[in-house]
Amino acid sequence: QIKKSLDEHVIGQEYAKKVLSVAVYNHYKRVNADPSYFELDDVEIEKSNILMVGPTGVGKTLIAQTLAKILDVPFAIADATTLTEAGYVGDDVETVLVRLLQAADYNLEKAQKGIVYIDEIDKISRKSESTSITRDVSGEGVQQALLKILEGTVAGVPPRGGRKHPEQSLINVNTKNILFIVGGAFDGIEPIIASRLNQNTIGFGAENGKKHILDSDELSRNVLPEDILRYGLIPELIGRLPMIASLHSLDASALKKILREPKNAILKQFKKLFMMEGIELEFEEAALDYVVNEAIARKTGARALRSIVENILLNIMYDLPNKKNVDKCLITLDVCKKGKDPVFVESDRKSA
Ligand code: ADP
Repeated sequence: QIKKSLDEHVIGQEYAKKVLSVAVYNHYKRVNADPSYFELDDVEIEKSNILMVGPTGVGKTLIAQTLAKILDVPFAIADATTLTEAGYVGDDVETVLVRLLQAADYNLEKAQKGIVYIDEIDKISRKSESTSITRDVSGEGVQQALLKILEGTVAGVPPRGGRKHPEQSLINVNTKNILFIVGGAFDGIEPIIASRLNQNTIGFGAENGKKHILDSDELSRNVLPEDILRYGLIPELIGRLPMIASLHSLDASALKKILREPKNAILKQFKKLFMMEGIELEFEEAALDYVVNEAIARKTGARALRSIVENILLNIMYDLPNKKNVDKCLITLDVCKKGKDPVFVESDRKSA
């Protein structure tokens, strides 16, 4: 059921959606279990946080956000690159929990069962030892600090965030039952995976001297914790992220589906805006192909789709309130490419 609900919002990414559905289901089973289960024996179910690996704009945040919505739990997003160790300029790791608390309207019990998504985890990988003799403020220290809240701790959180109100009393947030999903693009991890795979396949896969060269999607599907380790996350942190869900890049057909199919699909949103003016908005197939190709060229996954559509429709929407007696607006390829006027289908109301 969780996967089905995800399907309504997220196109493709079947593997990642499955991994997350199972992980989330198990997590809440553990959190909401009848205490008597734990009296039966000494088996303690540990929390399993999740690591999502995939290029930018392919749905990592969307999946985490949608999960929180489906489960009706508070959700907070943080960017690992803005976090620093306590005492340095920047946000303490605890600010992540402040946001969760705010998302839960300061209901502590609710917040303690929420989901936190931490983006750009790859950007705080450990720098090579030779780069700096000073403390690695943004790298390993932040990983250490994150580790604590990921594994479960009671953190003193300033309710209003920041350090500007030193007089405010702290709220103790227990992170034991908070699910952490961390994500990153891990640019440049492919060669690490490739070198490991080649090492393991020497003498096996190299039949007839022919070797199947894996593309970057195939490689990232094979990502293992040891690759992440070599990339520069500390082993303790990786140990706290036992589930790895890799996401693939989005091809033209996926991007086209994203325009049209999800519950809040971009086209559905604009159609609604036009409908409020009494006008039906339609895109020619070639116009949609144009939008998709532009998005591919920008290399930011599905992220570019919205602004491309928005740009194409800007002038049209500017004039829209003055358009009387129009039933339908057809966006052709020329509208997208050359900025020409769309085809307006006039209604009979004019003659009436
Ligand atoms: P990232 O992987 O960088 O976290 P996001 O999840 O923030 O990317 O995606 C950016 C935008 O692109 C989202 O707002 C969403 O609308 C759209 N998007 C990305 N991937 C998908 C997908 N697989 N299905 C539907 N929409 C998507």
